[in-house]
Amino acid sequence: MGCIFCQIIAGKVSSEILYQDEEVIAFRDINPVAPVHLLIIPKKHIPSLAHLPEAESPLIGHMANIANQLAKREGISESGYRLAISCGEQGGQEVPHLHMHLVGGRQLAPTFG
Ligand code: AMP
Ligand code: ZN
Repeated sequence: MGCIFCQIIAGKVSSEILYQDEEVIAFRDINPVAPVHLLIIPKKHIPSLAHLPEAESPLIGHMANIANQLAKREGISESGYRLAISCGEQGGQEVPHLHMHLVGGRQLAPTFG
């Protein structure tokens, strides 16, 4: 099992875990691009958003809800933040395990890279 995020879920790779339940886990990005940069991921290995079965799409709503809660906890709920899911090569996805970025704590650029 070469997936780095599955290894974090299994506790084989250490990370700063901020939240977990039966379905998802959230931890700090190892290479933050802003003062707050968290990743919310499903515990189930789903390679990308494009691989998410339609029947499992409520998972994305759950991840967004957890992101909202974590944004409050991190103190950026009022100032604002961005949720982002990169999908596939041209979408800039580097880790092939579905994940949602929660980024905030500074003014973000209005455009996509
Ligand atoms: P993406 O480019 O959307 O696939 O994002 C992958 C993110 O995972 C990057 O922001 C990396 O910094 C982050 N990342 C990779 N390995 C780890 C790790 N071991 N712990 C925390 N974050 C990681
Ligand atoms: Zn995985």
